[in-house]
Amino acid sequence: MDTSDRVADERPALTAPGGADRLLLHSCCAPCAGDVMNEITRSNIDYEILFYNPNIHPVREYELRKDENKRYAEKLGVPFTDLDYDTDNWYARVEGLEWEPERGARCTVCFDMRFERSALYAVEHGYPVFTSTLGTSRWKDLDQINECGVRAAARHDGLSYWTHNWRKKGGAQRMVEISKDEEFYQQEYCGCVYSLRDTNAHRVSRGRPRIRIGEQFYGRE
Ligand code: SF4
Repeated sequence: MDTSDRVADERPALTAPGGADRLLLHSCCAPCAGDVMNEITRSNIDYEILFYNPNIHPVREYELRKDENKRYAEKLGVPFTDLDYDTDNWYARVEGLEWEPERGARCTVCFDMRFERSALYAVEHGYPVFTSTLGTSRWKDLDQINECGVRAAARHDGLSYWTHNWRKKGGAQRMVEISKDEEFYQQEYCGCVYSLRDTNAHRVSRGRPRIRIGEQFYGRE
């Protein structure tokens, strides 16, 4: 199935909060964004992608994830904005939370930071709604993400966060299909240096090799 078939399928169009016909999509990576982008595109909602993820470490991984997302945005003709890779601010915000588990307090701070910046960008550029691809992964706590998004939107009059569950109605499966079709880069940890540390420790404890950045792609078995 090529991209145009997938975008033009027969599922009912989605309706954004307030019936908004334009929105800002915060994106973390191409695999999580692929189906979300297709869903928004086929719903005739005008949108822009905001790549703001100063949590990702190291910079090579950051560039890989960003470039893959940008490549798919160009394919769909969607504007793609790359914001600052302000890692100093990210490390300052998560200080003291280095040993938190995934889905814990460090992740709340991480989501808050990315969504606060996204909300500001949305307001500055006249978007009444923003949402994120972050909840697409089954490894994430969707309630935690939605709470952070709603909290960030509440800082601005007239701005909403769309809490849509992108995993449902086949979204999780389509995410994998698109990733394979497009041969997206497949990251093997959430993103920050602490998730890389913990994922490697888990792998080593199971006798598996450590993560090798830049080597794994969907559909290239
Ligand atoms: S594990 Fe993921 S969500 Fe949590 S702090 Fe690290 S990069 Fe952010």
